[in-house]
Amino acid sequence: MAGELRYDDQVVVITGAGGGLGKAYATFFGSRGAKVVVNDLGGSFKGEGNSTKAADVVVNEIKAAGGQAVANYDSVENGENIIETAIQAFGRIDILLNNAGILRDVSFKNMSDQDWDLVMKVHVKGAYKCARAAWPHFRKQKYGRVINTASAAGLFGNFGQANYSAAKLAQVGFTETLAKEGAKYNIICNVIAPIAASRMTETIMPPDMLENLKPEWVVPLVAVLVHKSNMTENGGIFEVGGGHIAKYRWERSSGLLLKADDSYTPGAVLKQWSKVNDFSNPQYPTGPNDFMGLLEESMKMGPNDK
Ligand code: NAD
Repeated sequence: MAGELRYDDQVVVITGAGGGLGKAYATFFGSRGAKVVVNDLGGSFKGEGNSTKAADVVVNEIKAAGGQAVANYDSVENGENIIETAIQAFGRIDILLNNAGILRDVSFKNMSDQDWDLVMKVHVKGAYKCARAAWPHFRKQKYGRVINTASAAGLFGNFGQANYSAAKLAQVGFTETLAKEGAKYNIICNVIAPIAASRMTETIMPPDMLENLKPEWVVPLVAVLVHKSNMTENGGIFEVGGGHIAKYRWERSSGLLLKADDSYTPGAVLKQWSKVNDFSNPQYPTGPNDFMGLLEESMKMGPNDK
């Protein structure tokens, strides 16, 4: 019955749900029994202007199909108002999809403070403010599901996107911490790096590729991760789009371990530099404590070859 996952009586807040991926999430959850808060500021993809139309269109679509939805037109920087809309309209919040986003692409040489600040404000502060406002509700009811939205640009970097890359990798660290803090309250948080046709990507990808990247094809992963049956998949980093879903994790080279004393010089490091890059026997650390064993080993070593 995996195709029949339902969200009856659950309240889903989706930021930036007036178009693209957010709209695909909203119409899906609206069709599966959830009560949906459709948030959208309704501005341009560069973060200029605002309008109620984007959210209203999606709310009307959900209602016309027999679902329940309300609109919210706040910027995600005012996350408390968005969560309040859920509480006022439906009395609770169960699922938060931090999805709203803008682009201010420009080469780093020409990047202005405004380009940097606006992207940080929408992606980083916006995700924080919405999650922060939802958190007390999640803790109190011992239930919450969160999806934050990263990007391949954040994981790998991309020309012209220094601001966006920084904001998107921030979603990963943010999610990892929320996953750890939320676990004992049954608050599950995951982060996705999606790829989908939207106004954000329509100018940078060829039409035939866009046709194979429907936003609807990001929905199934999100639907699984935020479903009540997911009690264990927490703090995951997922790549998703065009029918593909995969998970990322950290890989560490077996590395160079030297005695940390006066013989630990730049020359000693350079001499064995290839070990730093040696991934033939990789390790997969899952937390900072994985480093401690190495420290103990280093303490037992003899002086280094300078
Ligand atoms: P989109 O432009 O269609 O959707 C983003 C929505 O967010 C828009 O409707 C916009 O009005 C809204 N928004 C922007 N600023 C807002 C604010 N301050 N408050 C509330 N709403 C605001 O783009 P999309 O492709 O659907 O992007 C959705 C998310 O996925 C974004 O976070 C984006 O960075 C991320 N993403 C998308 C892709 C992709 O391939 N489409 C790739 C990587 C990451």
